[in-house]
Amino acid sequence: MERQQEPRHPRGTAARVLLTSVFGPYARDDEYGSRAINPMELYHNQVTRAQDVFSLRMFHRSWGLMLIQANLEAPCTLLDFPTLSRFVQELRTRTYDVVGISGILPNLGKVARMCALVRQHQPQATIVVGGHVANVPGIEQHVDSDHVVRGEGVSWFRRFLGQDPQAPIRHPLIVSAIDARTMGLRLPAGRGDTAATLIPSVGCPLGCDFCSTSAMFGGKGRHVDFYRTGEELYGVMCGLERALHVRSFFVMDENFLLQRKRALALLERMRAGGKSWSLLVFSSANTLRLYSDEELVGLGLTWLWIGLEGEGSAYDKLRGADTRALVHRLQGLGIRVLGSTIVGLPEHTLENIGPAIEHAVAHDTEFHQFMLYTPIPGTPLYRQHEQAGTLRPDVPPADTHGQLRFNYVHPHLAPGSETELLLRAFRRDFEANGPSVLRIARTLLRGWQRLKGHPEPRVRERLRRECRGLATSYAGGLWAAERWLADNPGLAARLHEVRLAIAAEFGWWSRLAAPLVGRFVLLALARERRRLESGRTYEPPTFYEANEGARASGGGRPARARWVPVEPVAD
Ligand code: SF4
Repeated sequence: MERQQEPRHPRGTAARVLLTSVFGPYARDDEYGSRAINPMELYHNQVTRAQDVFSLRMFHRSWGLMLIQANLEAPCTLLDFPTLSRFVQELRTRTYDVVGISGILPNLGKVARMCALVRQHQPQATIVVGGHVANVPGIEQHVDSDHVVRGEGVSWFRRFLGQDPQAPIRHPLIVSAIDARTMGLRLPAGRGDTAATLIPSVGCPLGCDFCSTSAMFGGKGRHVDFYRTGEELYGVMCGLERALHVRSFFVMDENFLLQRKRALALLERMRAGGKSWSLLVFSSANTLRLYSDEELVGLGLTWLWIGLEGEGSAYDKLRGADTRALVHRLQGLGIRVLGSTIVGLPEHTLENIGPAIEHAVAHDTEFHQFMLYTPIPGTPLYRQHEQAGTLRPDVPPADTHGQLRFNYVHPHLAPGSETELLLRAFRRDFEANGPSVLRIARTLLRGWQRLKGHPEPRVRERLRRECRGLATSYAGGLWAAERWLADNPGLAARLHEVRLAIAAEFGWWSRLAAPLVGRFVLLALARERRRLESGRTYEPPTFYEANEGARASGGGRPARARWVPVEPVAD
């Protein structure tokens, strides 16, 4: 973060603030940097992109902006996923003293355009640019802004507006996913159906050379805690539980389990409070080895995002780890795993990339992210390529997202070959392991069979909740997929086997439900196929939310905010 100048806005907490993400539409190619291959859908973008109608499609809000807004006393309006015309309309109809724009590297062109529009329509406004785009070398030459904030934005904005930067963090109410759909069907989005997002810390002290998130918040040895103790976290989670009626939490912390003391203190409070919560977390491999099965089950770990990177890769977090055995152990506890593998590590060649992909696929994780090894500005890997003169200036920022091409000269892979290799990895994973959303059924069943007699009632309750749809929705989904994917007999047989195992566990009800639900799912799959073939893409809705101060200030009336600050509370 830039601290040298310690800038202050003269109006302090009276300043009228607009925070905005970059404009859409996103899932198309355009001159501002939108790319059809890089939609605003995390899973479809880089996890299930080759899974056709089975791809998991959903959007996630701009959580960083929501967190900043929740912690400002100044009147603050948040415009999330605007179109360009909606952004211009906002600039024409309301007056702002500060406009904060957040983006990632591929958004550079959009950020530049938005800054120019602010200058045109609101020349009095101070423009602040943040997010990963802030690390673009010489960004000041590309965008006309007043401040570029590198790193954590809450304390920067608080300082800028004359608030106490060290004050306790108010946690916004965030529903983790929006408009989720798969297999042509919308996923339930009623009260409590979707996990709440919880943000305990940002950054990761392990500092892997390619990791832009770690670099963003200080790099190796550093991170930023918003909540230091298990007690504080527990209080925030109780607040989220009450306000959003949730019992599951998407824990947005790059390496949540690394802080073992905090995690175990949370576990203690969960046990004492009888909380049947589910936690969806990110963790590095070696960190997981610090926890017993009972601790992971007790914490309600149900979903885990883990970096597998590549067989024999030199990262400390993987040293000595047998990742296949680890994944198997976790799945035995009913924990669904999202493994992340890098394509294009320095040692990869055309000869060894095939076995490297097979190694990744053999993990048989529920979801698998494949990303190109990509130096992102701000990371040690970027500096290394910069010094070696191996960056490729002809690759525009809009194409530097890890799903299309290298932005540097790879030691062994010819330019352009990586595009096919990456796609090959996604396709091979789908061909071997099938639809991710149905792999979940197999792991849920394993967890159910292992833990349904667990001595803690809160664990049994969680299992019952998570496995509610196994005998019906999942059985029907499997029945439909067996038929849809009949041209891959090996895969269809695997799906069939899981369905039989579910029927054996849940009896006649499941046998009856599978073809009934399955016929309905088959129709939905066919409908989705037609949509996709007609060129249909999905875009997030625009959100327009004002805090108390902005609502009170009049001059246009934003829609009522969908967040309420949560103070840590004792249960
Ligand atoms: S362990 Fe994961 S989050 Fe931490 S630095 Fe490495 S890649 Fe980033």
